[in-house]
Amino acid sequence: MKNEKELEEKILKLAEIIKNSKYLVFFGGAGTSADSGVKTFRGKDGLYSSLYKNKYRPEEILSIDFFLKNRKIFNEYVKEKLPIEGLKANKGHKALVYLEKEGILKTIITQNIDDLHQVSGNKNVIELHGSLKRWYCLDCGEKFTKNTTCECGGIVRPEVTLYGEQLNQKTVDDAIYELYEADTLIVAGTSLTVYPAAYYIKYFKGKNLIIINNDETQYDTHASLVINGNFAEVLDKVANIIKKN
Ligand code: NAD
Ligand code: ZN
Repeated sequence: MKNEKELEEKILKLAEIIKNSKYLVFFGGAGTSADSGVKTFRGKDGLYSSLYKNKYRPEEILSIDFFLKNRKIFNEYVKEKLPIEGLKANKGHKALVYLEKEGILKTIITQNIDDLHQVSGNKNVIELHGSLKRWYCLDCGEKFTKNTTCECGGIVRPEVTLYGEQLNQKTVDDAIYELYEADTLIVAGTSLTVYPAAYYIKYFKGKNLIIINNDETQYDTHASLVINGNFAEVLDKVANIIKKN
């Protein structure tokens, strides 16, 4: 009961902070898609808790070396474990759409590759790790919206930064710029353990660092407000409070 009261108080506080923000930026991870049915890597029921085919770790499969050597298993894994077709926005996504429409939320920076923020209706989204919505042929450059066979017979890959690859520099620059501009940063549903993405939080120099996560994170001690809770639930409540005022 005490915890619930504390949560409600924190949600009220977050709504107040958001209302008073001049430049709100949202930085998210896999946990923001959890309520839309996409499994996270870490945390409860995360994909990291088991080996694929009793053999492969997820970060091994999602590496460039593995992709080049074992494309069939890579594609099978992506199709099975990170399916993005038909995903629907959850209440948290909808709250972010509302905040963007109100002119409060300026940018979403996401580590996710599932296209869900765009599907939900957000316009200004920076995809740090690319998207499974975009694939291209390494041989002829032809572009696709899903994995398919290219007419030229070349290798088709997702426009996603795999383990062992560098992030797209322009995307990183855009994200860092937004973090610098922000006076409030909400970090939600990310374990903050995947680098360099997690490192970028350091570029935020604003007043309010808010962390929303089911679990603890290594940045909790730096945050002005830590909400141990569910992304969709918290954001939905916050948006409803702002709507009423
Ligand atoms: P992660 O899996 O490492 O961590 C997810 C975090 O979110 C955990 O700390 C977990 O406790 C928390 N969480 C889970 N459900 C939540 C909820 N409903 N509300 C609040 N918190 C919740 O994810 P990450 O930090 O984003 O790093 C994983 C990497 O894997 C990223 O680089 C991303 O590209 C990729 N990935 C993407 C997807 C996707 O696109 N949906 C899914 C899995 C992994
Ligand atoms: Zn081709």
